[in-house]
Amino acid sequence: MELPVISNTAPESSGGGCSSSGCGTAPDALSHLPDSIRSKVQDHPCYSEEAHHYFARMHVAVAPACNIQCNYCNRKYDCSNESRPGVVSEVMSPDQAVKKTLAVAAAIPQMTVLGIAGPGDPLANPERTFETFRRLSEEAPDIKLCVSTNGLSLPESVDELAKHNIDHVTITINCVDPEIGAKIYPWIFWENKRIFGVEGAKILIEQQQKGLEMLTSRGILVKVNSVMIPGINDEHLKEVSKIVKAKGAFLHNVMPLIAEAEHGTYFGIMGQREPTPLELEALQDSCSGDMSMMRHCRQCRADAVGLLGEDRGAEFTIDKIEEMEIDYAAAMVERAKVHDAITSELEMKRALKAAPKFNPEAGEEKPATRPIRIAIASKGGGLVNEHFGHAHEFLVYEVGPTSHRFLTHRKCTPYCMGDESCGDGETVLGQIIKSLEGVEVLLASKIGFEPWADLEKAGIQPNGEHAMEPIEEAIRAVYDELAAAGKLDMPAEAKAAA
Ligand code: SF4
Repeated sequence: MELPVISNTAPESSGGGCSSSGCGTAPDALSHLPDSIRSKVQDHPCYSEEAHHYFARMHVAVAPACNIQCNYCNRKYDCSNESRPGVVSEVMSPDQAVKKTLAVAAAIPQMTVLGIAGPGDPLANPERTFETFRRLSEEAPDIKLCVSTNGLSLPESVDELAKHNIDHVTITINCVDPEIGAKIYPWIFWENKRIFGVEGAKILIEQQQKGLEMLTSRGILVKVNSVMIPGINDEHLKEVSKIVKAKGAFLHNVMPLIAEAEHGTYFGIMGQREPTPLELEALQDSCSGDMSMMRHCRQCRADAVGLLGEDRGAEFTIDKIEEMEIDYAAAMVERAKVHDAITSELEMKRALKAAPKFNPEAGEEKPATRPIRIAIASKGGGLVNEHFGHAHEFLVYEVGPTSHRFLTHRKCTPYCMGDESCGDGETVLGQIIKSLEGVEVLLASKIGFEPWADLEKAGIQPNGEHAMEPIEEAIRAVYDELAAAGKLDMPAEAKAAA
C-alpha cells in the first residue's frame, strides 16, 4: 500500500537530506577504504570531492508521500532558485522519470548517477520507486542507481533494493537516542497509525539501525546523512558517527540545518538557529576520526540535474522531454568515450597528487610554513572560472606546504545579478564577506573594484590572476608565492612544536 501524500510531512527532506547519491570527501579521505569500495566510489560525483567537478548526477522526483514528519521539512514550499532536499517543481510518474533520465543522460554524457530522493520518502512509495529502478536498470545499464531514505521502511525493502542492483543507499540518521529524536520527529506513520514523540522516534531509530546492518551485510554501500541542529543533536552526532561507522557505513555526511521562517518549517518558524560554517566544520572534523566525512554535499533538490552546485532542471521539464527524440544506444557509445576521457584525466591527477613533495632522505626539510584557507569562485570543471559577483557559492580549501584538502562550500546570494545591478548589493557583499570567515585569499576569474576593496579591508586578499586555471594548480601557485614572500612563516612557538 502506498501512503497518501501528507501535506507538510517528510522524511529526511529539508535541512538535510541528501539524495540518492550521497556526498563526497576529499580524494584522500577515501584512501582508508578497501580497494573494492574505493573503485566503486572514487568516480562518483557525490562520494568523491575530486570527481564532482567532472561527473554529474540527477534526481527524479517520483516519490511524493512520506511516512514521518521532520521538524526541518516542508515540501510544499518551492522556488526555482531554491536548492534544498525535498524541494521539487513537478512530481513525475515512473514513465516520465525514465524518459527524463534518458534525455538527460544523452544530453549530458557526464551524468553517471540517478537518484531517487523525494520529495517524500522513496521507500514510502515503493511501487513508483521500484518501477523506475526496474525500467532504468534495463534501459540505461550504464547509469548507477541510488536511493535516499529516512530508513523507516528500509528493512522490508532491502531485498527489492538488492534485486535492482542499487549499490549505494543513503540513510538520514539524526540521532540514536529517542529522547533527542522526539525533538526532531514529532511523529511517524507506522502500521497504519501515527505514533508520536519518544515512542515514534524509538521505532524509527530501530528501523534505521536494522536497515543499515542488513544493507552492509549484503555488501550494499551505505552513506549516512545527519542534519546538524545546534542545541539539539550537535554534540550527539559524534556518537552517531561512531555507531554508524561500527555498523558498516562507509561515509558520513554531516550537513547544516536549513531553517528559514519563509520555508514554513517548524524549526524555521520557531527560530531554531542554523549552525555557522565554522561550527559545522568543527563538528565534521571531530566526527571524522578515521572515517570519511563528506564535505562537498550541496543538499540538492529532489529534482536536481547536472554537476553539483549547478541546476539544469529547467532544460528538462516534462513538456520539453515529451518533444525530445532519444537514441539511447547511440548515446551510450558517446557516454562511454566521455567517461573514459574523464577517468584518464582523474587518474593522472591522482598520480601527481600521490607523488612525494619533499624527500627527507635527500636531506630535504619539511617546509615550515602555516596552512591557510583559500576560497574559489568556480562554476564547475575544477577551474577558477566564475566572476566574483556571479558566484552562488565559494569552494574553500585548506592549503599547506605540501598538500591541500577541500574543506567545504559556502553558499551565498550573488553580489551582482547583471550589469545594471552590479555594485548595488552592499548588504549582500557584507553577507558574502561574513560567510568567508577564516578565509585569507579569494580566487575568482574576475573581481570588481568595490568588492576588491571591501575584501581587502576584511583581511581577505582577492586574486584574479589565475582565471581559467585548474583549482589545484592555482591554489598551489598562490600558496607557494605567499610562502616564498615570507608571508606564511609559522610563529616561533608553532615552529618549535612542529
Ligand atoms: S551532493 Fe546532492 S546528490 Fe550528492 S549526496 Fe549531497 S544532496 Fe545528494
